[in-house]
Amino acid sequence: MILPADFISETRALLGDEYPLLEAALQAHPTVSIRLNPAKGLKNLNRLPADRVGWCDTGYYLPERPAFTFDPLFHAGAYYVQEASSMFLEQAIRTYAGGPLKCLDLCAAPGGKSTHLLTALPGGSLLVSNEVIRSRSYILAENTMKWGSPHVIVTHNDPKEIGGLTHFFDMIVADAPCSGEGMFRKNPESMNEWSAGNVALCASRQRRILHDSWDALKPGGILIYSTCTYNLEENEENLHYILAELGAEALPIPVKETWNISGPLKYSYPVYRFFPHKTKGEGFFLAAVRKKEGGAPPYRKKQKKEKGKPKSAIPAGPGNWILQPEAYQIEMREHTIAAFPQSVAGDLQTIAAQLQIVSAGVSLGEVKGKDVVPCHSLAMSTAFNRSAFPVVDLTWDDAIRYLRKEAVTLPDALPKGYVLAAYKGYPLGFIKHMGNRSNNLYPHEWRIRTGCGRDPNDMKNKINACGFHGGESKTTG
Ligand code: SAM
Repeated sequence: MILPADFISETRALLGDEYPLLEAALQAHPTVSIRLNPAKGLKNLNRLPADRVGWCDTGYYLPERPAFTFDPLFHAGAYYVQEASSMFLEQAIRTYAGGPLKCLDLCAAPGGKSTHLLTALPGGSLLVSNEVIRSRSYILAENTMKWGSPHVIVTHNDPKEIGGLTHFFDMIVADAPCSGEGMFRKNPESMNEWSAGNVALCASRQRRILHDSWDALKPGGILIYSTCTYNLEENEENLHYILAELGAEALPIPVKETWNISGPLKYSYPVYRFFPHKTKGEGFFLAAVRKKEGGAPPYRKKQKKEKGKPKSAIPAGPGNWILQPEAYQIEMREHTIAAFPQSVAGDLQTIAAQLQIVSAGVSLGEVKGKDVVPCHSLAMSTAFNRSAFPVVDLTWDDAIRYLRKEAVTLPDALPKGYVLAAYKGYPLGFIKHMGNRSNNLYPHEWRIRTGCGRDPNDMKNKINACGFHGGESKTTG
């Protein structure tokens, strides 16, 4: 790997004698890691790797990178493939999220931090997961849907529009777009875009993003700022800007010495730096701050009153497709029956009045004439009442066929109608069983398109060999 000359000189100036160690580490292979989804149950993940990520309870390193596309559990949202250093977010949440809160993930796609927040935030919290680039907001919605928590709203807004939600959030996570230095090893193309000029551009864009959204954070609220870079401009200098210009105090996060996390390279604020020659992961920076108390009282835009159009009746059945339906507000959105947690339903109204919503809560079913077709979002949801549908547990071959949106042969004994397709007990989606044929309801745009490029059985063995899930299960009706 040939590093950009200016990167070498600037990082050498930053690290001094330590620099050759970083350069040597950048020539090694990147680490591969996953974070499990405890809300989907871990009972079938009986061969977990021994190598754990120290700062994340559900994080594991894998010995090599398997073809995740051909692991049905990846599509079921049983785990998320995430770079290990960035899982350090969990320590900040654990230290500063006391009870249920309203949290904004400001720069959220593709969803690594958001899915982690959905696991780590105290129960009853609401996550607003935002992405400014439209196409990326759909990927974010897909990943949060697969993770399965109903307590999430995905939005597609500029930070300035979010700033209009004055003092709404208890916590903001800003994992800012950056020059990507920390990803050189994992994503060598990022070196082509790197220049000293681009670092300066990224640093000023980060300050703008923070400035524009700052009003949305409550006085006394927590901001967690992170980048995957090493330089000072995007990190300590921006932290200094937050503290001095926006008004905040820097907060410490307890760490274990064995994690080998580095501290500040300028100023003496508590900051958490991950260097690949010291910590097992890629380059990363994180700092937490508390916004100063005081400031203008919150401005609340008046919520629009819903006009006269009579609401269409909601068919009764889908209400029982989720567990504890009484805890949800069930409503029609166009032709879709959707559920949103009752405890945060008021917040959904506020968000809907000011931001552009991509998805919210769980879509239960789509009304088509007299029929209600269960939505994929329902199958992915942790609120899903599995006893509402007959289940077919597929073999690996049939699961891959299902995920390719090909026809799957169902056992004759299975009742006709909608059936849940599962793999090792993890829901994959729905099939309409019509006796002599079946209709695969897997979302067309998510289907596996790539070929294995080799014998699928080899691929299956490779995935099982990587050891984060157990052996093949038998087909059950
Ligand atoms: N937090 C994500 C995760 O853990 O998966 C990664 C976020 S990535 C480092 C930064 C994100 O910021 C990208 O999705 C990018 O599209 C978005 N972004 C780019 N320009 C932005 C802007 N001006 N304001 C807000 N977000 C922006």
